[in-house]
Amino acid sequence: EAFAPSPDRYESTDYRRVGDSGLRLPPISLGFWQNFGEDRDPGTLTAIVRRAFDMGITHFDLANNYGPPPGSAESHLGRILARDFGRHRDELVISTKAGYLMWDGPYGDGGSRKYLLSSLDQSLDRLGLEYVDIFYHHREDPETPLEETMGALAHAVHSGKALYAGISNYSPEHTREAARILEGHGVPLLIHQPSYSMFNRHVEDGLLETASDLGIGLAVFSPLQQGLLTSKYLKGVPQGSRAAGASPFLSATQTEDETYQERVRGLAKIAESRGQSLAQMALAWVLRHREVATALVGASSTTQLEQNVEAARGAEFTDSELAAIDEFAVD
Ligand code: NDP
Repeated sequence: EAFAPSPDRYESTDYRRVGDSGLRLPPISLGFWQNFGEDRDPGTLTAIVRRAFDMGITHFDLANNYGPPPGSAESHLGRILARDFGRHRDELVISTKAGYLMWDGPYGDGGSRKYLLSSLDQSLDRLGLEYVDIFYHHREDPETPLEETMGALAHAVHSGKALYAGISNYSPEHTREAARILEGHGVPLLIHQPSYSMFNRHVEDGLLETASDLGIGLAVFSPLQQGLLTSKYLKGVPQGSRAAGASPFLSATQTEDETYQERVRGLAKIAESRGQSLAQMALAWVLRHREVATALVGASSTTQLEQNVEAARGAEFTDSELAAIDEFAVD
């Protein structure tokens, strides 16, 4: 039936500024990486997107290759947008990316102007949109001059097909260089998208500081370490979970790791004393940094998303809680 969004949808979210920009994002955003492919039930996908919007989640994060198969996450969202969000486009921040392998031949991967600009056109086509809000280069390409890649992002912005430019998985040093080159084109670098979680703390090694120096925001991905930072794998691998499925990115060997169970139990205990689930604490923990504009979360059900949104309403961390977490929050 027709989607009538909740009139209260903006009442309980404190939107966070992205660096020094004018753009604000919800603390929890919805990512479309592995949960929006052809293998999923379209009814569930529609329900997740509608519920997200109803809870104030205005930001949807995509990439050309999300699926499986590549492209299908954008096509799924395109169908949902056309049917349900026609009158709400201006309430949404939709991002996409190019940088990983997308099509055969020399122009479907990497960081060339040829690849980025044709991929953006394909993404717009699948999404059924005239522009995306943020266009990212998805990963560093050491074989393409950064001037060429950033020139392509700047062109995407100047041509109106993207409103802002972003980069993902770049080192602090190349982030500074990218920002400098974009500035030369009159396009500020808005945002960087790195991985960050209690089990993956590399951003604390320079990237947070770089973001703060440059006045850019961070959209952190896999803040739940793909589900490992929840209690779901404490009693084996549940059916239907990512570790049980065909995902090449998460398998039962990770959940069976010797210290994994120990670390998760330790963290779950601290979460309990804060009155939160482990997932909620893990999200609040990445959001404790001002530089983190948003945590990009994946959800395979509306219930997961509802639980995760609550994380943003948890209490601040005390120094002793942070110290206790540090004991278990290791890569
Ligand atoms: P998460 O770490 O949030 O993992 C999501 C998974 O965790 C879900 O699929 C679900 O697993 C499980 N989960 C979520 N909430 C709960 C809950 N409350 N209770 C129990 N389990 C829960 O992030 P993702 O790895 O999915 O990445 C998030 C987004 O980040 C992506 O969609 C994408 O937009 C972005 N990303 C960007 C990358 C880049 O290179 N720029 C790379 C990777 C991701 P299950 O499916 O088992 O139910």
